[in-house]
Amino acid sequence: MKRMTMACAVMALAGTAMAQQAPGPYAGHKQVRLPVASRAVMEAIEPLSPDIWTHRVVPLRPVDLRLSPEQYARFLELDLEHQVIVDDLQVVVDAERARIAARSQRDDVEWYEEYRTLDEYWTRWQTIVDANPDVAQLSVIGQSLEGRDMPGIVLNGDGRVGKPVFVINACQHAREWVSPAATTFMIEQLVSNYGSDPRITRLLDELEWVFLPMVNPDGFNFTWTDQRFWRKNKRVIDDRLRGVDLNRNWEHEWGGLGSSSNPGNEQYRGEAPFTEPELLVYLDALDGLRGRVVGHLDVHTFSQFVLSPWGFTLEEPDDIAEMTELGNIFAGGVRDATGAEYEVGTGATVLYLYSGNATDWFYGELDALSWTIELRPTPPITLPGFDPPPDQILPAGEELLEGTLRLAEEFVRHPADLDRDGALTIFDYLRFQTYWMDQDPRADVDEDGAFTAADLVAFDMEFAR
Ligand SMILES: [Zn+2]
Repeated sequence: MKRMTMACAVMALAGTAMAQQAPGPYAGHKQVRLPVASRAVMEAIEPLSPDIWTHRVVPLRPVDLRLSPEQYARFLELDLEHQVIVDDLQVVVDAERARIAARSQRDDVEWYEEYRTLDEYWTRWQTIVDANPDVAQLSVIGQSLEGRDMPGIVLNGDGRVGKPVFVINACQHAREWVSPAATTFMIEQLVSNYGSDPRITRLLDELEWVFLPMVNPDGFNFTWTDQRFWRKNKRVIDDRLRGVDLNRNWEHEWGGLGSSSNPGNEQYRGEAPFTEPELLVYLDALDGLRGRVVGHLDVHTFSQFVLSPWGFTLEEPDDIAEMTELGNIFAGGVRDATGAEYEVGTGATVLYLYSGNATDWFYGELDALSWTIELRPTPPITLPGFDPPPDQILPAGEELLEGTLRLAEEFVRHPADLDRDGALTIFDYLRFQTYWMDQDPRADVDEDGAFTAADLVAFDMEFAR
């Protein structure tokens, strides 16, 4: 039904006067799908420098690309099996802009029923914190490369200082419009339900929540004014707009596989780690928090993934068992919220290698449990995944909220509450015994890597606390 609606809108609006005002030199650009993208296929298309929209190195999962007319001509010479999903992306961009322009003339459109500009976001963030200034604070944490303000929102229910910190950022990648929308929805739900919803009240009392809902304001603004599918920041190199991929510019294992030294590449990592002002502002915002950050989410679109470190290597991190378990808890929250399925795994194994990313940095440098969240939609879809119909914003927000709340509950959970029911009972004791006999890592209460009598003592102490 949603696809039909959008297709009708495309046909109805193509060629109208509105279309000429839309951003994006995408005339004749195609969205092409490779049904089976093996490593060999991906290496074959690499010299074309396509804009890869979904990254799968695992066979039997499709990969979508954006190809300019020139790139498509060269692509055809490779004689690869493919489908053209969208024949002319400019038509889609024009239709989207026409729809937004038409809705802006109406006063019956709810805020989360349409995509929003940077100015509209600032107004909304201010409204959200004004509704409960005792709990929420909005501040300008610094300026982007082009001098735009960057927002930081801190939620601290009871105002105590020195609590564990949960850091959540959105929109490192400019075109991923669902990312700041869903994250803003989540912030609004947390603030407006503090004091009335016991679960949210407790989680805002026990954790300090630090949100950076718009890490790439220059790029985001550019997707509204010029190029809808712009991904990077606005770095100019040799008098040309090139852009650095912010999520390849983090310092941990910077410069490795899955990042590019070519400024024209969509994964261009910059000249050195942490060269980009947006990330330096991010680091400043973490000053004074570093020893307290227990969890981090980097919110992206699309594909419906919950991705733990590592991104830079196929090797598993030390905490793979815990991060997989918690990733599954997040995915369970998503499923209970909307029924959507999010796949859980390490970034490099589920998605692709990507060195110099935020999630690896938070885990590798701050020892925080960290995930890259790829929100909806999931392939295969017949529209650009960065352009889902706006009726996808609210379900994405509800999924993100419930997954995140369940993670937060784990961050503040008592270590001996093994059945996760919020209370210490005989059932936790029984569960400990089962884990212990099964050599399950959850029985390694003293975290020494072995299952010994010391764990029994440690469990007893936790239980008694
Ligand atoms: Zn992204």
